[in-house]
Amino acid sequence: MTQRTALVTGGTGGIGSAIVRYLAGQGHRVATNYRNAEKAEAWRKAMAAEGIEVCMVAGDVSDPASCEAMVQAVEAKCGPVDILVNNAGITRDTTFHKMSYQQWTEVVNTNLNACFNVTRPVIEGMRARKWGRIVQISSINGQKGQYGQANYAAAKAGMHGFTISLAQENAKFGITVNTVSPGYVGTDMVMAVPEEVREKIVAQIPVGRLGRPEEIAHAVAFFTTDDAAWITGANLAINGGHYMGW
Ligand code: NDP
Repeated sequence: MTQRTALVTGGTGGIGSAIVRYLAGQGHRVATNYRNAEKAEAWRKAMAAEGIEVCMVAGDVSDPASCEAMVQAVEAKCGPVDILVNNAGITRDTTFHKMSYQQWTEVVNTNLNACFNVTRPVIEGMRARKWGRIVQISSINGQKGQYGQANYAAAKAGMHGFTISLAQENAKFGITVNTVSPGYVGTDMVMAVPEEVREKIVAQIPVGRLGRPEEIAHAVAFFTTDDAAWITGANLAINGGHYMGW
């Protein structure tokens, strides 16, 4: 397999760490962003102890200027970004009639506007080199909606609209653009949900358990291969059968 440079946003998180491991295992140079240098250094050391060297760059995906600098730093350290995984994300849950403008904009900026902020600085290079793989990590709740998540569901659904437009514009340049929509995976984001709510969620999952980060990473990694060159504009739902729509 050709060794490429992959940028995984939010690589220090639960799903992000699994994606970083998987892409590194395929021989790629992998970079990720951080906001808290101390926390990032502890994570980097833990990955290094597993034999995985990750290129760490400062960057806030909700801030366009920060993302420009982040991509420049990755490309200076590791070479042109050929694989981009827009994975960083947050929730700020509450019912819409109680939602503040800040809760709305934080979620839209971090999940959806981040796709603009990070993809814009890498897309021209991919087009010039005639090869690229872009994967958005959306969510089951962008497909089906979710009580208390109007902000998150809107942002995550928007990521798929972004995917299919970008896929059309860039198909002739050897660039594929796809979305992965995970169901509930046992990371910090989901473990923060009260246990009784989690039990109700699991009861709705036909496979009968939460997902594992590796099960998302495996699919993301497949989209980034040469063998997946004819898959573009797709949305892959990985949710234990929790939602079987588009
Ligand atoms: P985590 O909370 O474990 O990780 C989130 C990552 O995103 C962290 O590395 C975090 O960094 C980073 N991040 C958050 N905000 C920013 C920002 N403004 N700039 C840069 N980095 C940021 O979440 P998961 O691993 O569970 O989720 C990963 C993705 O998968 C998200 O997009 C999420 O919406 C999606 N998803 C998750 C599901 C789940 O069940 N867990 C289900 C469906 C989708 P920091 O440490 O600095 O906060």
